[in-house]
Amino acid sequence: MNKQPGTKGLIFNEPQLWDKSREGRCAISLPRADVEQAPMDPRFLGDAPDLPQLSELDVVRHYTRLSQWNFGVDSGMYPLGSCTMKYNPKTNEVQAARQGFAGAHPLVGDEFSQGALKLMYDLEQHLGEITGFPAVTLQPAAGAHGELTGMLMIHAYHAKKGKQRSKIIIPDTAHGTNPASASLCGYDSVNVKSGEKGILEPATVAALMDEDTAGIMITNPNTLGLFEENIKEICEIVHAKGGLVYGDGANMNAIMGVVKPGDLGIDVLHLNLHKTFSTPHGGGGPGSGPVGVVEGLIPFLPVPRIEKGLSTYKFVTDSPDTIGRMHTFYGHFGVMVKAYSYILSMGGEGLRKASQLAVLNANYIKESLRDVLNLAYDRPCMHECVFNDKLQKENHVTTMDMAKRLLDYGFHPPTVYFPLVVEAAFMVEPTETESKEDIDQFIDAVKAIAKEALENPEELKKAPLLTKVTRLDEVAAARKPCLRG
Ligand SMILES: *Cc1c(COP(=O)(O)O)cnc(C)c1O
Repeated sequence: MNKQPGTKGLIFNEPQLWDKSREGRCAISLPRADVEQAPMDPRFLGDAPDLPQLSELDVVRHYTRLSQWNFGVDSGMYPLGSCTMKYNPKTNEVQAARQGFAGAHPLVGDEFSQGALKLMYDLEQHLGEITGFPAVTLQPAAGAHGELTGMLMIHAYHAKKGKQRSKIIIPDTAHGTNPASASLCGYDSVNVKSGEKGILEPATVAALMDEDTAGIMITNPNTLGLFEENIKEICEIVHAKGGLVYGDGANMNAIMGVVKPGDLGIDVLHLNLHKTFSTPHGGGGPGSGPVGVVEGLIPFLPVPRIEKGLSTYKFVTDSPDTIGRMHTFYGHFGVMVKAYSYILSMGGEGLRKASQLAVLNANYIKESLRDVLNLAYDRPCMHECVFNDKLQKENHVTTMDMAKRLLDYGFHPPTVYFPLVVEAAFMVEPTETESKEDIDQFIDAVKAIAKEALENPEELKKAPLLTKVTRLDEVAAARKPCLRG
């Protein structure tokens, strides 16, 4: 049998339901009426809705087939770097769906929401423990929303000190959301280049840091999958000039249980519960981007905050320096339940192991593919590794060609052409949840593609050949979207 997961058989086409419609076909059969039929007053009926006429089986097959066109972590490896597309234990979904959680209504008030409040309070404590911060807010709905929350707090901090600053330093490896969040707060982004090793050099930061700079936004590990080894020194440089350090903690999957950002000198940090803490990432579902802060920023946290009394919990809004509310009620509760369940079921040791395995898996891929793909930075990586198409250039095969060909082998392609600091990046994040066998299949597929790039580049450039549609005009898809099918 083919060792790769990809195959061509039994992939169904599926037309629109209207094309399947046949006059008079119907999905239900009702018993013959035992009373005389009376026509309904047409004034109440209006025009009959234009619905396709289908049998039950037509409908079941239609939606089942469409669902099979989907690809997700439940169907296969999803090595999308920077995204942490990992498998999440289904028990966490079960807990979030429990009637008491799923049916909880925020308007019933604190008194009748004690369980939910306790869960959120405890989750804040756990995330504080994991990140090394004394206080956490769960309100933000996504990573970028967490960034905005953090930047608003930095803004409020400088305002309170009596002098607003105008700039924020942002490294060239940053996620695009970082400069966007800074500009939403009115700051100008100052780009700082990473050094030869793919990480920030203290001297470059020192040269830019001045008393008109509100702070720096650092992702650690950065988007090259490299640990910012000079982070402590950089934090000291920024602090010495009165600035604050924002940590983008979306990549916590690489370091939880191993390093606490709060211990490194970071002042405010967001997490992506929908990457690391058991909510599936992607598909546009609700997310959660909790933010942790050092002591000095606690007064600026959004309201309401959850306070624990002797035996009860309550929301408090009395906080004169708060940046205000960042979300209706208290954020996305279902995502919090999943994170809480994940953290409790994994335990501290389990979380550390998850990070260690994520890093091990990425380094295993890096070492296994180093002879066939050019490594952008030849150093130990964290949870993801970045290659590019330098070795294939001679045969005019690009990162995009190889990514498309992976589809034929039954793999979702990795992230391509990001981060921007690496030309034609091919960025792989296997996560901790893939087995060695599955990772080996992926490695074999990439090796086979690299071989094709040498021996048969023309054919490779036509890929994908086994998918429902072959190469699409991506520019036209973006410019002239066809939204009606
Ligand atoms: C995913 C990610 C973000 C943004 O998170 P969203 O929830 O998509 O807004 C920010 N920074 C980094 C490094 C990320 O990987």
